[in-house]
Amino acid sequence: MPKIHLLSPRLANQIAAGEVVERPASVIKELLENSIDSGASRIEIDVESGGVKLMRVRDNGCGIGEEDLPLALSRHATSKIEQLDDLEAVATLGFRGEALASISSVARLAIATNDRDSGPGWKAEAEGRDMAVNLAPVAHPRGTTVEVRDLFFNTPARRKFLRTETTEYKRIDEILRKLSLSHFDIDFTLRNNGKVAHQFRAAGTQLEQERRVAAICGPAFMENAIYVDMEAAGLRLWGWVGLPTFSRSQADLQHFFVNGRSIRDKLVTHAVRQAYQDVMYHGRHPAFVLYLELNPADVDVNVHPTKHEVRFRDSRTVHDFLFRSLHRCVADIRPGDSNQAGD
Ligand code: ADP
Ligand code: MG
Repeated sequence: MPKIHLLSPRLANQIAAGEVVERPASVIKELLENSIDSGASRIEIDVESGGVKLMRVRDNGCGIGEEDLPLALSRHATSKIEQLDDLEAVATLGFRGEALASISSVARLAIATNDRDSGPGWKAEAEGRDMAVNLAPVAHPRGTTVEVRDLFFNTPARRKFLRTETTEYKRIDEILRKLSLSHFDIDFTLRNNGKVAHQFRAAGTQLEQERRVAAICGPAFMENAIYVDMEAAGLRLWGWVGLPTFSRSQADLQHFFVNGRSIRDKLVTHAVRQAYQDVMYHGRHPAFVLYLELNPADVDVNVHPTKHEVRFRDSRTVHDFLFRSLHRCVADIRPGDSNQAGD
């Protein structure tokens, strides 16, 4: 039996990166979540060659102070939680303190940031070198720019799993759509190989929000959806549910957010399916953009590193609330002869 030894921080980060950095889109997700957590009202994303060559995310959020910057790139370093109690009620999208460390272990990463309205900011670079960052002053307005180049340049095995640039770009596009749907108050711009691909202006009113939803999910969805907003037992469900007549052959127009986080959940899928059961033909799928809001203490988001899953403390109550709320909206509308497929 070989002797046991500690892994180098770099290798430990590369192993952790396997969980959170699967492809360019996962990097974009982590960077956008950081920008959202920073309180930004404007986020700009640049992507080149499906993200493999370059991903740049620039925000006007709170920025990172000079002393904090080297720590930002370290694993298990976060400004978002301090003690176990905080983990019980996470209000930010991030909290594990591993995204930047993971990304910087498998790509060339540079951060420029400023936490003040005047004076220079600071720039740090890491090329798979992890914590050994050198800080240099740089001109940067308040906010942060993170640049990730040559993803997986030092991990050829991972690079092999990448699909075509078009496919990788599509996944990035999907992430942007999800995050734009869940953060109406933020201006998002996505540029692909220098050309503006999306520009979503901050949407304050319901009408502006509906415009954004239509831009993301298609105008047909908005024309065939009803707005819901219901509250009970400390739970709020709001958003847009597609009419039963706007059914789809695939479950591809289903967006569900829990406290602003896009999630996939069996319990939610089940409650929705039940609600539509009597009004939708077997094998067809409803379309919806729904937001569930509840006390952060009643939902555990620390289930998986990618944070796509959650656990509800009182899953029965959540299931019943979802089912009842949706059932009430869709029950009265029955599929008629003039059924129009949504796809
Ligand atoms: P986490 O988001 O889980 O805290 P990350 O590795 O993604 O971990 O980021 C580490 C820390 O770096 C964050 O806690 C935050 O303090 C800081 N940070 C990262 N990105 C930004 C940003 N765009 N704006 C301000 N602070 C940031
Ligand atoms: Mg993060």
